[in-house]
Amino acid sequence: MRIRSAEVFPVRIPKRTAFRVAYATRTACLSLVLRLATDDGHAGWGEAVPVKEVTGEDRAEVYRALSQWVALNLPGRDPFDREGLRQALERDLAGMPSARCAVDTALWDLRGQALGRSLRQLMGQARPSHWASASIGIKGLEETVQEAASLLERGFRHIKVKIGLDLDEDVARVKALRQRLGTDWPLYLDANQGYTPAQAMELTTRLAGEQVEFIEQPVPAADLDGLAQVTRHSPIPICADEAVKDPASLIPILERRAAHMINVKLQKCGGPSAAALLVRMAEAAGMRAMIGCMIESRVGITAGLSVALGLANVHYIDLDGAFDLADDLGAPGTGAQYADGRQFLAEGPGLGLTVDPQAVQRNLDPDLELNVRQE
Ligand SMILES: [Mg+2]
Repeated sequence: MRIRSAEVFPVRIPKRTAFRVAYATRTACLSLVLRLATDDGHAGWGEAVPVKEVTGEDRAEVYRALSQWVALNLPGRDPFDREGLRQALERDLAGMPSARCAVDTALWDLRGQALGRSLRQLMGQARPSHWASASIGIKGLEETVQEAASLLERGFRHIKVKIGLDLDEDVARVKALRQRLGTDWPLYLDANQGYTPAQAMELTTRLAGEQVEFIEQPVPAADLDGLAQVTRHSPIPICADEAVKDPASLIPILERRAAHMINVKLQKCGGPSAAALLVRMAEAAGMRAMIGCMIESRVGITAGLSVALGLANVHYIDLDGAFDLADDLGAPGTGAQYADGRQFLAEGPGLGLTVDPQAVQRNLDPDLELNVRQE
């Protein structure tokens, strides 16, 4: 199997409802979808979702760099040249983890197809499925309770609530959720760097009895001392998210015991290969991992779920990035699936996802293509 051609499609898929977190409000999935074609008729897919606030990447720059890199480096290449490709990606696309993620994912999709094995199996086939979690953005108390009630009614059992703008309101929202909707469903909180260490410690003290499963990234990513201080003090497990990027960024967190667990996202670390390394590094330090996501299409979500279900140290998933999208790039019944509060994968080699070329075409983002051509 040799790669014959590579093509990058800038895609914009609207969300049905806007999503507010501590640093921004999101209304669409803004992604770059990569297709690799081989000389024996296979197609491998991957996705880059650059998010400036998380990885510092600029989407137009990533589009340009990714398009150039794949055109120059992949035609004629054997997808199993794993170390050569990894080193070239890390050297040439340093600072662009989402671009590396798209390439790494598409290469794994091809390897799986060549071997007749799913990416979940190649990763280690630890589990057949995981409890799904669905996220609620920052909104008023009454709206938060209504939305959680409707998610529970729809079958979700794990709910993540975004916090981080107002301490008193956050405490009130969590208490209202527990008082009105009970405690028989796991509740995750995510502050997206919104608090100071002092505020975060006050928050964890005030929420100590509310059966919160964990709190993600309560303080700014760069403040590892603050994160470690909150972790030492907190009765609720603290999860490092924005502070964990590539494997090198995890080392000081492990050394300082700056968190109880970590949130690994393929877009932050550079794809399934780096995500697997992060999950195993955390395991070696006795730290649990979850696999999270950005607002990604089902290409990226299927890759994340394949890693999550492959590796034993992934104890939680937060892979709801495509649930609310107005369109779907994947054919129904292929790739990542959801039923009865759980996520699992349809059977099939590689990602096991059939990408619909017409869906890619109708969601093309002409503005980005035009901007980059004009520069
Ligand atoms: Mg998070």
